[in-house]
Amino acid sequence: MSQQNKKYNIEFVLELFDNDKFYIDKLCHYVKRKYHITVKMEDCKDGYYNDDNKEIIIKKNESDKSKLYTLLHEIGHVILCNRDYLNYTLSFPFSHNSEGMKIYKNKNKIVDMLREEVLAWDEGQKLAERLNIKLDYKSFGKYRNKYIFSYIG
Ligand SMILES: [Zn+2]
Repeated sequence: MSQQNKKYNIEFVLELFDNDKFYIDKLCHYVKRKYHITVKMEDCKDGYYNDDNKEIIIKKNESDKSKLYTLLHEIGHVILCNRDYLNYTLSFPFSHNSEGMKIYKNKNKIVDMLREEVLAWDEGQKLAERLNIKLDYKSFGKYRNKYIFSYIG
């Protein structure tokens, strides 16, 4: 085998481990091992994290890229929730009170939810860096901003 072919083959093998499906798999293993949380793909409107059931639900009929970005964001929530409970409740004092329907008119609650969402996106991005998940930052940023904007709008 010539040097040229050898180089090509190594790049080909590396490419197999450098795609969205592989990254999704890597994240599923990570969140299971570290937080005992199972990731499920289901028919749903949007992805979410259910702390009681120890589950992350990701929308089934989406591109791998969208699944990857959503999964990073939901794991961002897991990281924020599990850092330590006191720290979490102090960080978001208005997110988790029981004010029933009044919550939708509560400025503090809305802002705290927004802060938490933004931080979850940032935690997801930091996790990608730690796990050597190569993100297209422009594409990730557009996806993130679309969601952040939808929380306000
Ligand atoms: Zn969120």
